[in-house]
Amino acid sequence: MNIEITGLSKVYPNGFAAIKNINLEIGSGMFGLLGPNGAGKSSFMRILVTVQKSTSGTILIDGMDINEHRQKIRPLIGYLPQDFTFFSKLKTWEFLDYAASLSTSLKKKERIKRVDELLDQVGLLDVRERMANKLSGGMKRRLGIAQALIGNPKLLVIDEPTTGLDPEERIRFRNILSDLSQKDVTIILSTHIVGDISSTCHNMAMLNKGEVAFKGSPEGMIERVRGHVWQVLLDDEEFNELKAKYPVVSTIPTEGKWEVQLIANDQPHPRAKNANPNLEHAYVYFMENELGVSLV
Ligand code: ADP
Repeated sequence: MNIEITGLSKVYPNGFAAIKNINLEIGSGMFGLLGPNGAGKSSFMRILVTVQKSTSGTILIDGMDINEHRQKIRPLIGYLPQDFTFFSKLKTWEFLDYAASLSTSLKKKERIKRVDELLDQVGLLDVRERMANKLSGGMKRRLGIAQALIGNPKLLVIDEPTTGLDPEERIRFRNILSDLSQKDVTIILSTHIVGDISSTCHNMAMLNKGEVAFKGSPEGMIERVRGHVWQVLLDDEEFNELKAKYPVVSTIPTEGKWEVQLIANDQPHPRAKNANPNLEHAYVYFMENELGVSLV
């Protein structure tokens, strides 16, 4: 699948410009949309899945304009919104069965088979009889994915998939997504959690205030911060001094002192040595240096 986004903008009726001239090309596999809260990620995704309209610009999915070919494109897309909720009075399997009855033409018997396949795929077969609203937060997100997959979409769009999940569920969720992306499903996920992107996506874009601040590979973004990540062992006084000046990305208590990693353009302390950068470092660097957001 190929998605071509050209000059996309969204101005809400109150005059607020949430998306400003976005140009992106998204191919197969898993694509990550990273950005702080309010960056415009949800607005972008709602336009992409045809839930809301852009103010200007075009999106072509496999060459088809999403505004002109809405009926054809809709069935190709599975969408899991950030605020996904379900009816409280249904069991887990009943919820999926209900969703399947709305979005497919499968007969009852085939539907139940499909429902169980999906429950198995997202690791919820054991809890198929449990009331959907009694599932844990992570299980609910997984049920959301199952629901989005019912129509066998070619494109899966997931808004903030791991917010509020514990680390174990987060990993489980990422694994489900990476399995799916190997089955010829293009996945676009939005997140403000850097770890969601670094462990799963080969391509990404960073949004800030409605604009694309970076597009490329996570490795490409990491390269931009190389030489600006510093590591140094500091006593209390030195630590307090430096953390007032530079964004600190990690602190480990070591031998009664602090092993500190921080982001700085130039050597922040005579003992500081360059450290290996990762995506978290790059994100902080972008926010501070290229976007002018002060994190100190
Ligand atoms: P994100 O998903 O990155 O947090 P959103 O797309 O939800 O970003 O929001 C981007 C900006 O657009 C925010 O400042 C938000 O308040 C604003 N916004 C979102 N929806 C509307 C709306 N319907 N009317 C006006 N402003 C909106």
